[in-house]
Parts: sequence; structure tokens; C-alpha cells
Amino acid sequence: MNTFQSFGWEINPNLNYNKKNFPSLNEDINTDWLIIGGGLTGLSALNQLKKYNITEKVIMVDAGKIGQGSSSRNSGFLVDSTLNNGATTISNIKEYKQKYALNLAGMSELKNMVNENSISCDWSAKGKYHAAANKNEFYKLRKFRDLLMNVGIDCNEYHQKELLNLLGTSFYKYAIKTSGGILLNPQKLLQGLVFKICKNFSVYEDTKIEKFFFDREPVALTSNGFKIKARKIIIAVNAWLPELKIKKNHSMPLMLTSSITRPLTNEECSEIGNPKPWGVLSVKPTGATVRYTNDHRIMIRNTSEPLLKSNINFKKCIEKHKEGLLKRFPAFYNINFENSWCGLISVSRNGKPVFGQLKDKVFYAGVYNGGGLGLSVLFGAAMIDAALKVNNTRLKIVSNFPQANNLPPFPKLAAYLRIKLDQMLGSNET
Ligand SMILES: Cc1cc2nc3c(=O)[nH]c(=O)nc-3n(C[C@H](O)[C@H](O)[C@H](O)COP(=O)(O)OP(=O)(O)OC[C@H]3O[C@@H](n4cnc5c(N)ncnc54)[C@H](O)[C@@H]3O)c2cc1C
Repeated sequence: MNTFQSFGWEINPNLNYNKKNFPSLNEDINTDWLIIGGGLTGLSALNQLKKYNITEKVIMVDAGKIGQGSSSRNSGFLVDSTLNNGATTISNIKEYKQKYALNLAGMSELKNMVNENSISCDWSAKGKYHAAANKNEFYKLRKFRDLLMNVGIDCNEYHQKELLNLLGTSFYKYAIKTSGGILLNPQKLLQGLVFKICKNFSVYEDTKIEKFFFDREPVALTSNGFKIKARKIIIAVNAWLPELKIKKNHSMPLMLTSSITRPLTNEECSEIGNPKPWGVLSVKPTGATVRYTNDHRIMIRNTSEPLLKSNINFKKCIEKHKEGLLKRFPAFYNINFENSWCGLISVSRNGKPVFGQLKDKVFYAGVYNGGGLGLSVLFGAAMIDAALKVNNTRLKIVSNFPQANNLPPFPKLAAYLRIKLDQMLGSNET
């Protein structure tokens, strides 16, 4: 299986999603701006060109469908604070503050884009839970609580009984809730943004850029042999950056899979105590992300695998989702999933992103390490700032942030072994 096949996997692709179709590119073309990748990073770049009133020719291409990659397949947590980037000790408080500031900038960038384009995406400022089911993991949450308090980030702690009332499950034994996070519906977000932002631009789908090179101006070659000559190229392909030979040894893709139930009936909702919508992130990086959505569905994401040849068994993934659902809600054994899907994230060794340029003509950004909902929008706009040499606060925040470092030798194998070990030791959290 190649990455584009697996990226396209979805059990029920037409569900709840009114997709806009664009043509594919079938000729050589000259343009001022070429944006490669139509996820949130690319759409934010396009939106920023629009905001700067650029009247030059802009085209955007995507190897698959615009807005239908990870940007619409994620779990919808727009995070301010993060637990899983190693910053669980007080000693790295300075680094943590810098990451927090970056996340806040990403949140505000996405908020502006949503408001300016009047996108309705179930935006809910109700915060998020970081939770553990296993006693051995409590110490991480306590350290996290201390860190948040030190930095001055509002949080509360909850134990099993309170969590049962709040979430409708007794699975979690201890949790820290931060009030700053946003929960949203990524499909609605992308659907709205694609309709609003792509209007009046030349957009092409099923148009994969195989490679690019410099011939005075940069030239991109599509997989079916067409040339796109551009004055500036914006590369917004996130997990596929290494395929375009950008920072090749600095990131690797991980495949995540999720499933979602149908809406629970009134009876089923009252069986679990009619909780308000919530979102839980696991204390462990390999643990489950779970949401109880506004329309009373349960969504679970509890697998992550490096792409080692064709090692992803989707049937097994869905069984794992069901297992995770039943651990939390044993009464729901007869509820099947309405949809299941996969998507790629891009991770680096030190949890840092990638942002840079080549010869002042090609600009690239990505590697958001699983937290790209806000960062993609921030980095997408910052690429345009850099290309137009607009020295604003946004560009300063992004370009001063530390970059991804080199991966270890055999990174996929190392990641695979780490994930397997983590899964063995932390299976209670999935
Ligand atoms: C299951 C899942 C859950 C997640 N949950 C969260 C979450 O809750 N919160 C959070 O902050 N983040 C989450 N993420 C991560 C987040 O979705 C991503 O970081 C973010 O969407 C990245 O946006 P992007 O535009 O850079 O990449 P993408 O959305 O992946 O877009 C990149 C686009 O580039 C295209 N492309 C690739 N190569 C080429 C090429 N050669 N030529 C042309 N086009 C190309 C692809 O087809 C794709 O459409 C999750 C991701 C997954 C998969």
C-alpha cells in the first residue's frame, strides 16, 4: 500500500460531508504562486495571500482531495497546553512557556480564520481532560498539574467518582482538566474553509507533485509529467515533506486510525447520565483520544503505527476501537461504528516543527507532531509573511521557535519498537 492509498481510506467517505470537487491539472502552466497541499497549512497560506490583497496568479494543487487529508480527519482538539511533548518536569518550564505561546498563537490564528470566514464548526471553548485509567500513570498527571500551576495555566483535578458524573464512564481514575482548549468538528471546519477560501482561485485535485527543481525560477513536476513554473512555491504537505526531499531526515509519518458511532439515542444518553460533550486525551502518547460529541456520538482514536510497508491492518484497528469503546462503555456492545478512517501525522525526534525556505523562492512548513490544528494555520500564514518579507509578530514567533532535529538511524523501526513497548506497558490507556 502506498501512502496515498492509505491516506484515502475511509469506510464511509460520503457521510455528513458535502465535498467540493476540483479538476486535475492537465497542462503545463506558469504562475506567480504555487501552493502544494490543500490541508489547513495550504488553505491558511491561500487565505493569507487573499488577506494581503495579492492580485498575482495563485494556484493550489493537492495529490488527493482538497481539505480531505488529516486536516479534516483529526480529533478536533485545538490545544493550548500539551502533556506529551516531554515537558512534564518543572525544569523545562521555559521551553514549556515557549510552546504554550506558540499554541496560543495557533489558536488565535485559527479563531480569526473561522470568524472572518463565518465557519460553523461546533466551536466549543469547554477545555479538555488529560486522563489516566492506570494508577502507575498518575504521577505524570500530578507533574503536569504542578507544571500548569507554575506557568499560571488554569486547571482542575478530578477523581473517578467525579469523572463518572462528568464523562459517563468509570474507566478513568484521575484527570487534569485545562479550561483553555477548544473542541471542534474538523470536517465541518474544512468543508467551510474549502468553500470560502478556494473561491476565485485555480485549484487542482488529484495532482501530485513528484519533485521540484530550480531553473532560474522554481519548477514543479506533476506525477503525470506536467510542469508548473512558479515565482514562489509554498510547500504545505506536512507528513509528505520527506517525499519532496524537504528536511528528509527530520520527520517521519505515523498512521492514526479512528472510529465514530452513530448518535446515541435519548435512552442511551441517559444510561450514561446525560453528560455534556467532552474530549479526553490520554496520559500516554499511545493511549486513546476519545470524544463525546455535540450530537451525542462517541469517537475513539487509539492506534498509531509507523508506515512499515503494508503493516496496517484496518480490520484489526476497528476491532481495537471497539475494544476501547467497550472498556469505557460496556453497555454499548451492540453499537457499531458508523464511520472509520485513517490519517497521517508527522513527528520529529524532539517534538519540534519544520519551517524554512530555499533560495528565497520555496517556503516550507510542517511536522506538527500530532498537534497541528492551530499550528498548521499559524505556519501556513507565516510562510506567506516570509515570502513577502513582512516582519510581523507571527513570523517572529514561528521563526524563533526551535526546529526539528535529525532522526536516529532506522527511525521507523525505533518508533515501531517504542510504540509496541508503550502499547504493552500501557494497554490500559487504549
Ligand atoms: C487521526 C488524527 C487525529 C488528529 N488529531 C488532532 C487533534 O485533535 N488536534 C490537533 O491539533 N491535531 C490533530 N491531528 C494532526 C492534524 O490533523 C495535522 O497536524 C494537520 O491537519 C496538518 O495539516 P496540513 O495541512 O499540514 O496537512 P494535511 O491536512 O495532511 O494536508 C497535506 C495535504 O498535502 C497533500 N500532498 C501531500 N503530498 C503532496 C504532493 N506531493 N503533491 C501535492 N499534494 C500533496 C495531501 O494530499 C494533503 O491533502 C490529528 C491527525 C490525525 C491523522
